[in-house]
Amino acid sequence: MIKETYSPQETYDLGMALGRQARPGDVYCLNGDLGVGKTVFTQGFAAGLDIEGPVNSPTFTIVQQYEDGRLPLYHFDVYRIGDVSEMDEIGYEECFYGQGVSLIEWSNLIEEILPETVIRVTIEKDLEKGFDYRKISVESNDPGLRKRNV
Ligand code: ADP
Ligand code: MG
Repeated sequence: MIKETYSPQETYDLGMALGRQARPGDVYCLNGDLGVGKTVFTQGFAAGLDIEGPVNSPTFTIVQQYEDGRLPLYHFDVYRIGDVSEMDEIGYEECFYGQGVSLIEWSNLIEEILPETVIRVTIEKDLEKGFDYRKISVESNDPGLRKRNV
């Protein structure tokens, strides 16, 4: 699925629609340049899981956990990770293979430890289409997951 958005609100709303459909054990891999809207998407996603607290980029902690929603959300931002071994220290396996939902900003930096089945969300700008334009693609290598369109 490819969705084009023209404002932060539209990206937030797409995140929310996907958050509403998230299921236990889902792993969302979120990629795109700095400032493209990954955190905006994540905030909508968290709202779709009925998480009420403020959701910001957990850049200095790598992962932030939210327990007050429909499902636990593990929000990773691995931008500043030095080595994938740091993920072991965090105990990422309990997140990726547990009953919560994982969402990983900059997942391409930890490609080697991602589960086989993930949902990939890629956000791109195209300045020719305006400063606030974003092209967001949502894809999965699992046919069941691929059906979860919005
Ligand atoms: P990232 O987490 O990818 O570094 P952020 O979500 O923190 O990026 O920031 C995205 C910025 O881009 C915000 O300032 C937001 O207001 C702005 N923005 C403009 N247009 C859009 C859009 N269509 N979707 C998402 N964010 C947008
Ligand atoms: Mg961010």
